Amino acid sequence: DMISLQGKTFVVMGVANFRSIAWGIAQSLHSAGANLIFTYANERLEKGVRELADSLENPNNLLVQCDVTSDEDLAKCFASIKEQVGTIHGVAHCIAFANKEDLKGDFVDTSRDGYLLSQNISAYSLVGVAREAKPLMVEGGSIVTLTYLGGERVMQNYNLMGVSKAALEASVRYLANDLGKYNIRVNSISAGPIRTLSAKGVGDFNTILKEIEEKAPLRRNVTQEEVGDSALFLFSDLARGITGENIHVDSGYHIMG
Ligand code: NAD
Repeated sequence: DMISLQGKTFVVMGVANFRSIAWGIAQSLHSAGANLIFTYANERLEKGVRELADSLENPNNLLVQCDVTSDEDLAKCFASIKEQVGTIHGVAHCIAFANKEDLKGDFVDTSRDGYLLSQNISAYSLVGVAREAKPLMVEGGSIVTLTYLGGERVMQNYNLMGVSKAALEASVRYLANDLGKYNIRVNSISAGPIRTLSAKGVGDFNTILKEIEEKAPLRRNVTQEEVGDSALFLFSDLARGITGENIHVDSGYHIMG
């Protein structure tokens, strides 16, 4: 209720189902009155995303297909958005991928192909998205991506995703510097562990959740809604002085020794 994004348009990338963090962000943006555009990776996901989008009161939600490994898809997706709505005010990038076999055991055993695939989808995609979204953010804008503590520290089983998140977080800083002159801000949210489709791929995920309950200052795990509200803040004018930042929405776990 405190933040209004009435009349502003945001692209939400990475809703797979109702558990997706992207869906938490979409709901927070929707509650602030924003217009939403959803992108989905492939046809398999379209129906589910459409059902979720339709469940919001606003009937004008747009859906556009975009596989971020394809430069052609990225260009087409933002061209189609430009054609349909013109100006946008922000993008939520909620996309990552790694092969399941790479999310257990030793990082040293990571294959070249697995490594490059994870970097491509989880880190480079933010660069491609920022480049294509920039011309649509003529009134300034805010880009928010999602990262995890494994990008800063060694977390068991996170392995190559940690290295991809480190690249993503560095990309946030370089993009923030490039785009600041257009009044486009770029930030990341480092979310605590949340049970989603992607999280299923991380070995021993239940143990990670339990450790947060025991050790994090707030003694509980965070929710999609809490990450969504922090993203809403970063998308709003209240955050107009913040760019290149990584905000931890993790019950404070990252401060612990
Ligand atoms: P999710 O599985 O719901 O979302 C991941 C999304 O990435 C899916 O919608 C999937 O379709 C999309 N994606 C994968 N490959 C793609 C491609 N080639 N093109 C376009 N989209 C593609 O899981 P989530 O946990 O909501 O993940 C969203 C983001 O949050 C990810 O960056 C993830 O690393 C990050 N994150 C998750 C957690 C957690 O514990 N769940 C914690 C911190 C950060």
